[in-house]
Formats: sequence, C-alpha cells, structure tokens
Amino acid sequence: MIELKRKLEILADAAKYDASCASSGSHRKRAEKGIGNTEGMGICHSYTPDGRCISLLKLLLTNVCIWDCSYCINRKSSDIQRARFRPEEVVRLTIDFYKRNYIEGLFLSSGIIQNADYTMEQLVLVAKKLREEENFGGYIHLKAVPGASPALLRQAGKYADRLSANIEMPVQEDLDKLAPDKTIHEIESTMAEVKGGIDESKQDAKTTKRPPAFARAGQSTQLVVGASKSNDGVILTKAEALYKKFQLRRVYYSAFSPAQFTDPNLAKDPTPPMREHRLYEADWLIRHYGFAAHEIADSLENGNLDLTKDPKLAWALKHRGLFPVDVNRASKGLLLRVPGIGVRNVERILKIRRFHRIRTDDLIRIKISMNRAKWFVTTADHNPDVYRLDSNYVLDRFRPKKVQPSLFDTGVSRVSVVTGEI
Ligand code: SF4
Repeated sequence: MIELKRKLEILADAAKYDASCASSGSHRKRAEKGIGNTEGMGICHSYTPDGRCISLLKLLLTNVCIWDCSYCINRKSSDIQRARFRPEEVVRLTIDFYKRNYIEGLFLSSGIIQNADYTMEQLVLVAKKLREEENFGGYIHLKAVPGASPALLRQAGKYADRLSANIEMPVQEDLDKLAPDKTIHEIESTMAEVKGGIDESKQDAKTTKRPPAFARAGQSTQLVVGASKSNDGVILTKAEALYKKFQLRRVYYSAFSPAQFTDPNLAKDPTPPMREHRLYEADWLIRHYGFAAHEIADSLENGNLDLTKDPKLAWALKHRGLFPVDVNRASKGLLLRVPGIGVRNVERILKIRRFHRIRTDDLIRIKISMNRAKWFVTTADHNPDVYRLDSNYVLDRFRPKKVQPSLFDTGVSRVSVVTGEI
C-alpha cells in the first residue's frame, strides 16, 4: 500500500502535463539552506472570472489509465509507478492545504478507471464531499471525462466552478493515430453537454432569484502541439471553431515534450516552447483583436507561425498594402491590426480624436509602443515612408535581438519576447 505522501508525489507530478490549468515550468537550484522550490509539482495558478490569481492543488485522482494515448506518460502501456487516491484522501488533502493557506482551490483530473462513467463518478464524489460535507467554498476545476453520461456531467457542473474536456488533437486523423480510444465527436458531445448546462443556468438566472450554479467559470480545453503533424493553421482553426461552438473560456496549448516513457514512435524532439507561445499570441488575436483564424493561417509560410515575430507583426508585414493607417480616420477594426497598439489604446485613440487631431506626442502619452507602431501609422505630424517597410533596415529592427539561455529542460532555446500589447 503506497503511503499518502508518496501518492501525492506521484499524482501531483503526473498532473503537471495538463496545461488546461496553467502553471510555471521553470526550474532553479536552491541554496542548501534556502527556501522555495520552483520544481515541486502540486500547486499551480489559475485565474478566476474576476481576474484574481489563485493557487490550486493540482492532482490526478489516479495515473492508472485503460486508454493508450501515445503522447501521454500515463497511458496503459507506459512503464511508470502507478498510484490512486481514494476520494476521501483528496478531500482531506484539499482541506488540510486550504486551512494552512497553501491553496485556494483544487484542480482534479484522472486517468480512465474502468470506464468514462466510473471515472467521472469518482471525480464528482470528491467535489460533492468537499461541497456538501466540508462546506468547501473554494474553487474547483474538474476534468469532464469524454463520454461520461449527461447526468454525471450535470452533477459535476453543479459542484465545480470550471469543467474541461481535453480535445488534445485538432483533427480525427491525429486521434486515430495517437489516441485510438478517443473521438472528436465524443469529446465535443461532452463539451456540448457542459455548454447546455451553462446556458440553462444563465437562462434560469433571468427568472429565478437563486438559480442552481453550473460551472460558473465556464469550460476550457487543451490541444497538444507538435505530437502530430497538424500545423498551427489547423490548430488555430480548430481552436476558433471550439470558441464559437461551445463558448469556451480558454483553449490551452501544450507543447509536446517526449517524456521518458512516451511512445518511441512519436517525435523525438520536443516542440519549441516558442511555438506554444506564438499560438497563445495568435489565440489572443482571435479572441480580442477581431482576427479570424483563416486570416492568420492564410498568411503563414508552411502553415506554422513565424517563431521570430509575433503573429500580429508577421501579419502586418505580409499585408503592407494596408499600412500606414491614419490614426485620425481609421476604423476601430483597422487600428486593432496595427502592431504596437493594443485594445485599450485603440479605445483611447477613438476618444481623443473626437476632440482634436492626434499627433505623435498623443500616442507617446498613452504609452503606445512607438518603436513598432511608428512604421505603421500616420498622425497629424508623422508620415512614415511606407516603402521603408521593405527595407532590411526596418525589418532588422523587428528581429529578436538576443537569445536567452533555456529556461526549460527541453534543451530548446527560448527567444526573448516583447510582452504586453501586441
Ligand atoms: S486518457 Fe489518454 S491522455 Fe488521458 S490519462 Fe489516459 S492515456 Fe493519458
């Protein structure tokens, strides 16, 4: 019988591969008597609907699985140590950690035990015990097991704040090759069921004072990147379709990294973390900047995002004919496409120009990144020579300046990234 501490080590470590609840991936040496550890698994961070960052105990109920997804270390043919929590053990750990103020909630996933319904039942049991026996009011994120019965999914939504059914691959052909037990149809039916519950609860909220809650923080999913041959265009198109069809809160992208016991037939090289990063940027453009996935996909060479430029800049350089944009006259949609100008600054520009013609100083004052934007906009006192966008002098300025040493154990260099508005 494995003791609880050992189970915790195994099942918290096994949960780290699920990106649908984001967590840090850095590692660092700790001085002998120092405190803190970035490598320890088990606690990750997530964001509530109101934007608060919270710590979650991130666990698998078990890493035993009857399915055999070749990209997953927990698949049935993988030679790893197995463990399984009893539902009351997870409840106890959650409450103990919560009382010590280590966590504010629980993220619970699982390998498939016996069948989808039994697994979902066990996950629901944990959430039910927490809510009904322990009066736990913290955040709960549960895995929605594809193929679980609608009744069980309804119960899961009643107790959990968020549900996530991981689709993993963008097309059925990829699943056929790498995860033969899964089908897109079954996973999407699970998502549809969760969406149905969320819609009903919103509808009830209009007529009832205290409607029964259902997955208040919505649903999310995860796509594994680089395990199959599907390119970024295909991945983004699928993500966009999922956002539209099931109103997902987030699609997470997880760069495939061959672990010790993953199928040797899969890619031997890890997916560059920068590819995952670019997908998050493109996803952001789709959700907040009015880009359609096909617009991004159509401008890609070989179907993948350019690792050396953020997707908005890459798109703008491919569509130079649209620039420079006159900030005093351009539509909101066009302003959103200017590299260096973010959503909030577009709103500010629209407000300012009601009162006077915008000059470069106005843009600097609202902290627009003029290093990038100046090549793409005209103002009352600035008109870039658009043809310079073709010159190596300008293009050089958009190339990443330095390559930082790897932050991750994948052996792939991480290119320095300009963060903030894109
Ligand atoms: S269903 Fe597939 S991805 Fe999930 S734990 Fe089992 S083998 Fe891993």
